[in-house]
Amino acid sequence: MTLSKSQTRIINAMDDVSLSNWRDWRWQIRHCIRDLETFEDLLGIELSEGQRKAFSKTVEKFPMSITPYYLSLISVEDYENDPVFKQSFPSPAELQVTRYDMSDPLSEDKDSPVEGVTHRYPDRVLLLVSNVCSMYCRHCTRKRRVGDRDFIPDKETIGKGIDYIRRTPQVRDVLMSGGDPFLLSDEYLDWILSELRAIDHVEVIRIGTRTPVVLPYRITENLVNVLKKHHPLWINTHFNHPCELTESSRAVLARLADAGIPLGNQSVLLAGVNDCPRIMRKLVHKLAYNRVRPYYLYQCDLSEGLSHFRTPIGKGIEILESLIGHTSGFCVPTYVIDAPGGGGKIPVMPNYLVSWSTNKVVLRNYEGVICSYKEPDSYEPYFCDRDCEKCDLQLKLDDADEQKALGIEKLLADHDRTIALVPATNERLSRRNNDE
Ligand SMILES: *Cc1c(COP(=O)(O)O)cnc(C)c1O
Repeated sequence: MTLSKSQTRIINAMDDVSLSNWRDWRWQIRHCIRDLETFEDLLGIELSEGQRKAFSKTVEKFPMSITPYYLSLISVEDYENDPVFKQSFPSPAELQVTRYDMSDPLSEDKDSPVEGVTHRYPDRVLLLVSNVCSMYCRHCTRKRRVGDRDFIPDKETIGKGIDYIRRTPQVRDVLMSGGDPFLLSDEYLDWILSELRAIDHVEVIRIGTRTPVVLPYRITENLVNVLKKHHPLWINTHFNHPCELTESSRAVLARLADAGIPLGNQSVLLAGVNDCPRIMRKLVHKLAYNRVRPYYLYQCDLSEGLSHFRTPIGKGIEILESLIGHTSGFCVPTYVIDAPGGGGKIPVMPNYLVSWSTNKVVLRNYEGVICSYKEPDSYEPYFCDRDCEKCDLQLKLDDADEQKALGIEKLLADHDRTIALVPATNERLSRRNNDE
């Protein structure tokens, strides 16, 4: 791997740096840029007095931390518009709190049965194993926590989360997140992964990490050797802009993919960074070329301090419109809004169903061509009362997941008599109850 010009410049501006230091992730963490003077020094730029004041006020509430590696991706010429700068350098706009901002918009703290676990969906949980990040993303959805108590939970705390998973048999998928799980040592990760693997009902383990983007040197051969002992293991990372796919990043993505780890990417739609169909298309193509499947595109959450990053939902739909049909299906991420209040991720996309009658549907494609699809004249709908023994469809009962119908699924199912879902606070119904 060769060093870029700005990497060479930064290395020269730092004392006592050798190339092997630069590529040592622990060295990178020890040398994270957390103050303005170092930031200016290393980039060779000078901010105005006003900018400095605004900076100090902002970091009092939301601190800064940037790895030297990630800093070196900022192009100094037009740094104020640089996507890496915007994701890493505090903006005074973070202090604008709007009426709709919340500190925990996804109610992760409320859906937490034990410390460090968020159990929101029926069959999978989020396990927070780290409260540490190397780079503090300015758009962090858990901004309320950034920097306030940087620590790695001890074995006892994580063990309680693992105990919860052990005694909750419906959990078949565990998503390790944080903070960044890859800031744990290889040994510690190995311990957590072994504990989870020892649980029979845990089929899949996922890790969410931004280290391939902000600290690629973390993905060492030793780490990859640890990870590949615990398959099936999936990794989701977080690239937001094509410029983040550097030579170093691409090399570690290849290393992870070669270890048989399926890679996904979760981007956040950010005003001024990637709210552009051409940038997004370039990003998803570069990801696919590097064996990373674009998984989610997130609408920016309603967390406090993010208002300057938010776009209308229409921007995301416009981006999807420019992807679906135009490029490989597996390059198209699912665009999701994480529902405020804890409802989970809700997918949104352009409408393709234009109209329908009893036996025909009218659809439009990405080109605007309108076509019709003739549905079968006869289809024997069969009544499903979940008596699978009597059914002709072949499902070995051992393979059948026993899950009761949930939510909208209830309204569609024959075997459930629910005919309406009613909000807990429906006025008309509370009147009924009072009458009784
Ligand atoms: C995103 C998320 C998951 C995983 O969702 P998938 O759609 O399966 O990727 C699980 N739990 C929580 C709390 C989440 O926010």
